[in-house]
Amino acid sequence: MSKQHFQIAVVGSGFAGSVMAMMAHRLGLSTVLIERGRHPRFVIGESSTPLASLLLEEISEEYDLPFVRPLCKWGTWQKQLPQIACGLKRGFTFYRHEFGKPFITDAERQHQLLVGASANEEIADTHWYRADFDHYLVTQAQNLGVRYFDETLLVNAREETTGMRLTGTRRDEPVEITADFVIDATGPRGFMHQALGLPEKPFAAFPSTQGLFSHFQNVGSLPESFSTPGQTPPYPPEQAAVHHIFPGGWIWVLKFNNGITSAGVAATDAVANELEFNSGEPAWRRLLERLPSLAEIFGSAHSVMPCVHSPRLAFQSGVVAGLRWALLPSAAGFVDPLLSTGFPLTLLGVKRIAGALKSGLRGSGFRRRLGEYAKLTLMELETTSRFVGSLYATMDRFDLFKELSLLYFAAASYSETVRRLGKPELADGFLLCRHPVFARQVLQICELANQPLSAEVAGELRQTIRQAIKPFDVAGLTDESRHPWYPAMASDLLRNARKVNASENQIQMMLARCGCKPD
Ligand SMILES: Cc1cc2nc3c(=O)[nH]c(=O)nc-3n(C[C@H](O)[C@H](O)[C@H](O)COP(=O)(O)OP(=O)(O)OC[C@H]3O[C@@H](n4cnc5c(N)ncnc54)[C@H](O)[C@@H]3O)c2cc1C
Repeated sequence: MSKQHFQIAVVGSGFAGSVMAMMAHRLGLSTVLIERGRHPRFVIGESSTPLASLLLEEISEEYDLPFVRPLCKWGTWQKQLPQIACGLKRGFTFYRHEFGKPFITDAERQHQLLVGASANEEIADTHWYRADFDHYLVTQAQNLGVRYFDETLLVNAREETTGMRLTGTRRDEPVEITADFVIDATGPRGFMHQALGLPEKPFAAFPSTQGLFSHFQNVGSLPESFSTPGQTPPYPPEQAAVHHIFPGGWIWVLKFNNGITSAGVAATDAVANELEFNSGEPAWRRLLERLPSLAEIFGSAHSVMPCVHSPRLAFQSGVVAGLRWALLPSAAGFVDPLLSTGFPLTLLGVKRIAGALKSGLRGSGFRRRLGEYAKLTLMELETTSRFVGSLYATMDRFDLFKELSLLYFAAASYSETVRRLGKPELADGFLLCRHPVFARQVLQICELANQPLSAEVAGELRQTIRQAIKPFDVAGLTDESRHPWYPAMASDLLRNARKVNASENQIQMMLARCGCKPD
């Protein structure tokens, strides 16, 4: 039997596992990265956000990982790493569909919402084609000196006085790895959750949902009926994470620059069971038959791999860390692909765990920071589930859905801005979940939105949402004249400098640093 000891064992070599392992290595800790499969491989979860890109940028600087830096913006990615496929993401596009009817834009654009995330292509976000992206990162980890064992299936984890003992098989041979500390990056319901028999903790306010997804070729463009004659949208609507909303669920369409499109559906049990998601591709076809505009877009498309059915999307582990182990946020829980919250949540956690590792593996400082990490991770997952849960509750009340989405975008853009200004303490926690006023307002708003409301109360709620957004709105989201198209504009940041405790000059310098030109 092969037996080896490391200070840190990271289990799971998705992007998060590889990044975490490289950071631990940079901290001078002997690190092993263990993967049950082999790269390149398919994995879902592709659409990035400004906050995720920024966190990756921070990590590349702080931990001296310069080869990660080009992946933080579309422009640098295309110039320096064009061999790694990705998609251009200028924003978040939403269209509201009704079953049995084609999507047709009306003059007021009532059934759409476009929120720009970047002012131009150069600095835009991306969809990560994970087969290439993860393969690149795991290769870089090995180049750096991280030990890597692939095709290693771990089945047992035992906590001992000196560390953790992990056992399993590598290419059918028994393997045993001991480590002072284990970081689980194997995704929801992953290795440690199973091996330690951790409890599951259901979200307080989130419906049971299922997923069905695949990669496709020959996906068509949005038909003419999606455009608004005489008006130019803030960015090309398909250069985005495109969300097609229908009662009880939504479809994502993410286009990569290699001819592949990632598409799938997340829906409540009622919709998923009726369409029999467990039948795979036939269910996808049945759904498209109900959505004529999407049937047109996917008319000539074919899947390049079998459709994957996920019978339960949302998950939260009741315990996130022990004395000698921790689950990354992506292993501790998952809410829904809606709003692409997975990457930023994960990268925030990766940074926090690395921060804890800096205080040494044995001291009380490490234990304290790990405890804080665990608490905050659960709080952030719960907050995300409230936001996204309220969106599920309003998929058939699109006016309210749009306002609630703006609440999310306000918190996200505020958080990104204060981080870029070097003041992360102003947005402590994902989506301002520890802000004494905003967090309370979000809770109240989401609880109300989950209920059936009269037109009058719904109107009042929309006003309440706008009031809650205002103090944090650095992106023109409360400018009603823009509704429902919100471009990403440097002038909004300048105008709202005081909301982030900054001078106009500081904002100008920040914009120059991140390559954002005046509007
Ligand atoms: C349907 C769906 C859509 C999503 N879309 C988005 C999105 O658009 N944007 C976003 O931000 N997030 C999205 N997410 C969330 C996103 O997938 C995760 O946040 C992200 O993949 C986490 O990356 P990771 O590296 O932690 O784990 P993963 O990407 O899940 O990688 C885990 C790795 O661990 C390995 N592994 C598993 N078990 C073992 C074991 N026992 N031993 C060794 N290795 C093991 C696996 O083979 C895999 O390589 C989505 C999730 C789902 C389910």
